[in-house]
Amino acid sequence: MLVIEAREISYTYHPGTSHAKKALDGITLTVERGEFLSLVGANGSGKSTLIQQLNGLLLPEAGELMVLGRSVADKGYREQLWQKVGLVFQFPEQQLFEGTVYDELAYGLKNMGLAKGEIDRRVQEALLGVGIEPAGVSGQSPFSLSGGMRRRVAVASILAMEPEILVLDEPTAGLDPEGSSQILETVKRLQREKGITVLLVSHCLNELILFSDRIAVLEKGRIKAQGKVREVLSGTLGEAVILPEYLNVLTDLREKGWPVHCGQLTLEEAAAE
Ligand code: ADP
Repeated sequence: MLVIEAREISYTYHPGTSHAKKALDGITLTVERGEFLSLVGANGSGKSTLIQQLNGLLLPEAGELMVLGRSVADKGYREQLWQKVGLVFQFPEQQLFEGTVYDELAYGLKNMGLAKGEIDRRVQEALLGVGIEPAGVSGQSPFSLSGGMRRRVAVASILAMEPEILVLDEPTAGLDPEGSSQILETVKRLQREKGITVLLVSHCLNELILFSDRIAVLEKGRIKAQGKVREVLSGTLGEAVILPEYLNVLTDLREKGWPVHCGQLTLEEAAAE
């Protein structure tokens, strides 16, 4: 079953003004339930604009977008989409605002009108899902935690909503290899065990290769290529980058519990190397 069907969708920021900027230009893309699709593309290629259409934050100006079988043109449906399509923004820990980790996770659940017992269950499960022991951390302020832990709390706050589609915009940016692995392995497990559909925006070749079923490459608001990871990467980057041995070594390392390494050093780290 298709959970996302985008047909020729377009989007322009500030239309009709001198600042008008066409960010999406006829995107056609389908995603099957339970699939792990990665979106790749240079800065400004339209990735963030595209994912914001999926949970109703932005509305396509042209074309048709069906999410979970219904058109987002329906305003009432669009307003419910935040509960079905969980969107983890870039650096999501910057949006934490509650006094405790528990309240942070419970915030969206209260807005969904859930009963206290169900909220407690979901908070517990979501924290365990990202590798956090709830007993020690629930009552703490998110701001007392390390950067990597805050990121996990932010991801857990979206997981607690039990979305059918999980969209993550560069969720490992700025994290060390351990922290990156923790997040991605969690997401992969949810895909495998709960059949959740995942869309990942990533610049990291290792992440793309190890976790995605399929990738779509965006360029200037259009889909430049899409398909199975190996096919698309060999088409766009050249065979040398994805020699079968490279894939095998990566897969082998991951199975042995090695963290995913993306070479995402901060400037300070790079200077210290
Ligand atoms: P990506 O996520 O791939 O970096 P974006 O979707 O953020 O790309 O941006 C696509 C294009 O739309 C870029 O040219 C960007 O400058 C423009 N854009 C993004 N957000 C806005 C905005 N709020 N106002 C005007 N232009 C924007």
